[in-house]
Amino acid sequence: MSKRVGIYPGTFDPATNGHLDIIHRGTALVDRLIVGVAVNAGKGPLFTLEERVALMKREVAGLPLAEAARIEVVPFETLLMHFAQTMGANIILRGLRAVSDFEYEFQMAGMNKRLDGGVETVFLMASESQQFISSRFVKEVARLGGDISHFVSARTALAVRNKLSGLPPPADGEAPPTMPTLAPKAPL
Ligand code: ADP
Repeated sequence: MSKRVGIYPGTFDPATNGHLDIIHRGTALVDRLIVGVAVNAGKGPLFTLEERVALMKREVAGLPLAEAARIEVVPFETLLMHFAQTMGANIILRGLRAVSDFEYEFQMAGMNKRLDGGVETVFLMASESQQFISSRFVKEVARLGGDISHFVSARTALAVRNKLSGLPPPADGEAPPTMPTLAPKAPL
């Protein structure tokens, strides 16, 4: 049987506990998961592509070893479907929060299916405890001096604070990676 290779694409500006929850649950569905960090200059990200990749790599390194060993964090600037083809992926993984995510995701999945019918988009519903978390609100709350420690790891929280105050990114060991609060698997 051919291997299931999934891509979880996003801007991850920055990676939140919601993203990590999707990564954790998505890894259970595929043999190998590529977290594709999109350049997405149009979204005017707070962190550079390199910084977002570095932050995501740190988060993945904090996951259980058996999981982390099957996850790769890769930046991409091309069309998602071209990236998927280059990586030999056959699944695109996306998270769905509220109804507001649905229309955009529905259109994107439809377009992508037209571009490459061999790649299936799989949606995971956001966990109940994470569904209100978004990178945008994390940045807004942090800008206004609010506590973002429930939404991102300690390392990412420090990186956001440093970035907003014009300080360099935290050095290794400055804020130890914490295990994200992953939602318990719901009984069927
Ligand atoms: P994009 O720029 O593609 O919207 P994001 O980094 O914001 O990228 O999100 C990447 C993916 O993760 C999207 O499918 C988004 O719906 C999903 N996602 C974002 N936050 C959460 C969350 N709290 N719970 C579940 N999925 C999420």
